Amino acid sequence: MRKGKVRGIARDTLHFILEASRSSLPVEFAGLLSVEDDIISDVLILPGTENSRMSALVRLYMLPNMSVAGSAHSHPSGDLRPSDPDLQFFSRTGDYHLIVGPPFDETSWVCYDRSGKRRDLAVLDVDFKDGFDDTFDDDLDGSSDAGFGDGP
Ligand code: ZN
Repeated sequence: MRKGKVRGIARDTLHFILEASRSSLPVEFAGLLSVEDDIISDVLILPGTENSRMSALVRLYMLPNMSVAGSAHSHPSGDLRPSDPDLQFFSRTGDYHLIVGPPFDETSWVCYDRSGKRRDLAVLDVDFKDGFDDTFDDDLDGSSDAGFGDGP
């Protein structure tokens, strides 16, 4: 259901999450992160709030062909620490979990692993255009390592 290695998140995708979180205020935004070519490049919006998220997740996992790397959601309070329901959710949903908060800019988010520990996540400039797959693969092969580890 998920891939072990993720190189980073596409900048456009991060912006989408931040923008969606801001426009969802005062309600929390939540989504699943999906991976293509080792890059988090898509967000599947999860309906519901912190406590109803698990049931929404179960339904979403019935979708075929989804490669889920983790999740993203907002904490309108600005406290970016994961709550207990968050930690439960993280442990079942992949290894990359973004929590974003006000002011919803490129610095107002944190990435956690499945155990709720902060981890680095590279923000990558990816060009989403027709022919994405071809050019992108070449790009990846030629570029140096993004520089974040897979953890212990
Ligand atoms: Zn939360």
